Amino acid sequence: MLQQTQVKTVLPRFAAWFEVFPDITSLATASLDEVLKAWEGLGYYRRARFIHASAQLILAEHHGRFPQTFEAMLKLPGIGRSTAGAIASFCFDMNTPVLDGNVKRVLRRWHGSPEATDKTLWVQAQEAIDASGQPDIWNQAMMELGATLCLASKPSCIDCPVQQHCGSAFGTFERATSKTVLVRNVHWQVKLYLDAKKGVWLTQRPDEGIWAGLWTPPIKELVSAPDETPYHIHQLTHRRLHLYTDVIHTEPGGKGQWATDIRHFALPTGIHRLLAKHGITPAAGEA
Ligand code: SF4
Repeated sequence: MLQQTQVKTVLPRFAAWFEVFPDITSLATASLDEVLKAWEGLGYYRRARFIHASAQLILAEHHGRFPQTFEAMLKLPGIGRSTAGAIASFCFDMNTPVLDGNVKRVLRRWHGSPEATDKTLWVQAQEAIDASGQPDIWNQAMMELGATLCLASKPSCIDCPVQQHCGSAFGTFERATSKTVLVRNVHWQVKLYLDAKKGVWLTQRPDEGIWAGLWTPPIKELVSAPDETPYHIHQLTHRRLHLYTDVIHTEPGGKGQWATDIRHFALPTGIHRLLAKHGITPAAGEA
């Protein structure tokens, strides 16, 4: 949950998640719909799919017990070398380094080698954790150092506990470069089929692409921006969705189902906001 999402957002959701899925078996045997519903609003829904698929793999191949070898952890969907390193060190006391963006920065500065490649950094990270004697604390300390003191733009060397050993302490630092993210404008016509008794018509998005597997009113992508102001604009990492609504009071065609209470469906935040503008909220159903 913490990949790409802030701690304060995650904390209440983390507790709520374990209310719904108290163990691996309950998660593995839930439907993907239930999992996406529990993840609703956290964004980056791929993570929910990975957790679900991991739970199923753990149930099928490890008798429902989280694998305890590094190699087996790496086979779980969504878990790469650095995440597996964190789990293995925190939970099983293994000498497996974490190498996220913050730790890379700390290592480069510590060794005074700003150009060090990932390959070199993995070697340095392994040597350091091998020498630490406390891999769990070592990994947490490196991540905390990068997140709190050894910041990208303004490292606080004066407060840093490792300043005497650091090859870059009080030096001049590269300016933090923010990666340019190319954002594409997308224009979507959202067809709001409304019925006073039956509610709003929802369809399930395909398994791939934006909002995969979530429920939305039928959406049609427009080739260009129409001559009207979008009803709602929703920002994703690489897309800016301009949503235009078309309210329809006839019977819809195709696959889907009426929803009198949208609480029972996993909807993306952008659609929740758009529906709210039409008076359709989880608490009230259709107004
Ligand atoms: S002394 Fe400065 S550059 Fe070195 S690790 Fe500490 S904060 Fe980073």
